[in-house]
Amino acid sequence: ESGADAPRPRISVIGTGYLGATHAAAMAELGFDVVGVDTDPAKVEALSAGRLPFYEPGLGELISEHLATGRLRFTTDLTEAVAVSDIHFVCVGTPQQATSHAADLRFVESAVAGIARALSHDGIVVGKSTVPVGTAARLRELLGALAPEGVAAELIWNPEFLREGKAVEDTLHPDRVVIGGASAAAETAMREVYAAPVAEGAPFLTVGLETAELVKVSANAFLATKISFINAIAELCTAADADVTALADAIGLDGRIGRRFLDAGLGFGGGCLPKDIRALMHRAGELGALEVVGLMQQVDEINMAQRQRVVDLALQSCGGSVLNARIGVLGAAFKPLTDDVRDSPALNVAAALHLRGAQVTVFDPAAGDTARRTFPTLSFAAGTEDAIRGAHVVLLLTEWAEFLDADPVALGELVGRRTIIDARNKLDAARWSAAGWTVIGLGTRPTA
Ligand code: NAD
Repeated sequence: ESGADAPRPRISVIGTGYLGATHAAAMAELGFDVVGVDTDPAKVEALSAGRLPFYEPGLGELISEHLATGRLRFTTDLTEAVAVSDIHFVCVGTPQQATSHAADLRFVESAVAGIARALSHDGIVVGKSTVPVGTAARLRELLGALAPEGVAAELIWNPEFLREGKAVEDTLHPDRVVIGGASAAAETAMREVYAAPVAEGAPFLTVGLETAELVKVSANAFLATKISFINAIAELCTAADADVTALADAIGLDGRIGRRFLDAGLGFGGGCLPKDIRALMHRAGELGALEVVGLMQQVDEINMAQRQRVVDLALQSCGGSVLNARIGVLGAAFKPLTDDVRDSPALNVAAALHLRGAQVTVFDPAAGDTARRTFPTLSFAAGTEDAIRGAHVVLLLTEWAEFLDADPVALGELVGRRTIIDARNKLDAARWSAAGWTVIGLGTRPTA
């Protein structure tokens, strides 16, 4: 009874991109008063009006709902947001540096410094961004040095595992909650914040600050390794006339292996996996953990080679040169259900073929705008039909359901030649070949 009457901690979320906007909305959904802060006024203006500045299923609705309940608002004013909050989640970006594999930590540093200077009462700073191990300890010192006299501020780490495309679901129903470096008081606060998912059965793991940082990075490193592993095996399947999809189905039934993240194809991309494994390489090198460096280099190389492999398949299918060839590209996002084109393998392949003189036309159901901003010299179509009309070869690069469900008979009427490179090994090859298509996969036998 008395617990229910105690004031709930108020929450600020610093950085309202894919992670922060989702986290802010989810915290409001769990009943907290939340203010989201971003340095980008356009983003704050859009979110405040209930418009999502990027594509994420279900998030727009959740934000609108809690703008209406009054539990959620957005601002560019960090000082004001910190003044009215008790727990400050740091969700700013940690991209790869332009000139090295290391993570660019400017945004987390400036966010923590900004929170520290703005503190007017006791608070907990909770890092959620993905950072190289050792960052949180430095940020903790920064917080201690900059927080006003007489204000008790603690910094802990709570890595985030959400997937774009399933971000709302993952945030409200996480597989686990990991809390690093928390005092008893901070742990109590985190147990209150995450009471609902924990009540549903999500394990609540308390670990050291460094372990928490590394849990996130290691999880991504493992997922990346799994994808590069199956892509290496796909190369062998091609050479040995075996089928990697059937192989993955068979080994995936072993509970120790599991079928997920065993899809051979164009490989991983996006705003997380590539930069996270590179930052890990860099940090492991600094710390002298050379096995990790070598392993991650190999994973990265195998992954990048898949992009070249798909470009080579397109070249082959056009007789060795794509100069002036019409190529229809289905997909620009790094995976379905997102408009994220950061380090997207699909956009990368489309661009490589464009640079070789092909007439490339791209269609993506959600990522057309972000892709056009990233690569304005590519042509973009408004639909699948327009993208593939007259094409010498069609490339399926992002496995959106609408591409997998498309009618190969109708599409076959539009192309110049019925050849499709299924770079995700996701098409029903029998259905497409029955409609007269040659389907070329990666590590699978072509159907003609
Ligand atoms: P993002 O680029 O979409 O968002 C970052 C936001 O932070 C931007 O809106 C930017 O304007 C804002 N920002 C930068 N500096 C700021 C400051 N000082 N104060 C306030 N706002 C500031 O990036 P993201 O995809 O949301 O990723 C954020 C972090 O979360 C990264 O470390 C990433 O690795 C991690 N992460 C992302 C995902 C994901 O699926 N996107 C999943 C788990 C973890």
